[in-house]
Amino acid sequence: MNLVVGAGISGCVLAELIARIVGEEVVVIDRREHIGGNLYDEVMDEIYVHRYGPHIFHTNDQRVWEYVNRFGEFHPYLHRVLGVIDGIKIPLPFNLTALEELFPQSVARRYIEELNRHFSYGEKINVLELQKINELKSLGDFIYSKVFKNYTLKQWGIPLLELDESVARRVPFVFGKGCGYFDDRYQGIPLEGYTKVMEKMISHPKIKLKLGVDFRDFKGNPKRIFYCGRIDEYFDFSLGRLQYRGVKFDFKTLELERFQECSVINYPNQFDFTRITEYKHFLPISSKKKTIISIEYPREFFGDDEVIQAYPIPNISQRNLYERYLEMAQKEQNVYFCGRLGKYQYLDMDDAIMKSFVLFERVFGDLKK
Ligand code: UDP
Repeated sequence: MNLVVGAGISGCVLAELIARIVGEEVVVIDRREHIGGNLYDEVMDEIYVHRYGPHIFHTNDQRVWEYVNRFGEFHPYLHRVLGVIDGIKIPLPFNLTALEELFPQSVARRYIEELNRHFSYGEKINVLELQKINELKSLGDFIYSKVFKNYTLKQWGIPLLELDESVARRVPFVFGKGCGYFDDRYQGIPLEGYTKVMEKMISHPKIKLKLGVDFRDFKGNPKRIFYCGRIDEYFDFSLGRLQYRGVKFDFKTLELERFQECSVINYPNQFDFTRITEYKHFLPISSKKKTIISIEYPREFFGDDEVIQAYPIPNISQRNLYERYLEMAQKEQNVYFCGRLGKYQYLDMDDAIMKSFVLFERVFGDLKK
């Protein structure tokens, strides 16, 4: 028997592949009372609500896209995000539309001429790189200070420059006018929610699910363990705790047809929250009378129930600590660490799925479709 610890996306994919392709028994446990990890969603007032915050599926990988589509239909959804800057709502990532809205025409024109000298139209540029170009430094500084500086301080509790540069790269400056948040080839939201997709993934008769079960209390003798829990917890925090950024979600049901003009609006420079999500925008069918929003308050995570253990912190000190745990992990026999918590990585859903594919292939050989 194989044991998968954690019924999030990484664990569900592994369980599905092992049961279907290898034909071996899999037991999936999770200490929570539901599957799906932080992707868990449920229907409230006819609206699919992501209980741990907004998740939009996006990928450039055809194999991943075809794989998830086996388990449910995806509604084509182009994610748009607005940011409130000096009282004006601009598209994010920051692009030429934002530039034209926030600067006088003549100044915007000069920046565009300068951008033309350095980049091709449509290019995506890391804002930290923009700051390094003499003629564009003032534009880079402006975007940094209005969009990133305070949002990142709220979101992570530390400045952007102390985080891995991959964080800034997630939201580049776009030298163009497209206003989607992601530019991946495939984007969508499951029509019946993420939880249903994962239920279907682990519906194979060779998979047994046990909820409310902690790894430490699991009795059994698995021949392999796929451990998607916290790697530091597996080793009893013997080298100290890896830090997580937590988020407290304040959900509100409002007697309104619509609260805001798109699913997510960011507030970099006001309030203690970072963004407001209105879940109605994700899928076509939902109630006319009510709407549901979540307001996101980043917090330190100490393990209390109100604050979700959300983000591994992508900085050097945490990376170093993780690598020491990784050395210990590599000495374990037949235990494979995976997922956001097992690999201590800030992972998008498609990355998590891809990493489960790679691990599966490493352990069992070629991934046949
Ligand atoms: N970010 C920012 N201002 C914004 C949006 C994003 O400073 O308006 C920074 C912030 O550090 C954030 C990171 O970019 O953590 C990645 O943003 P993304 O929207 O990808 O975050 P996620 O949805 O994963 O929380």
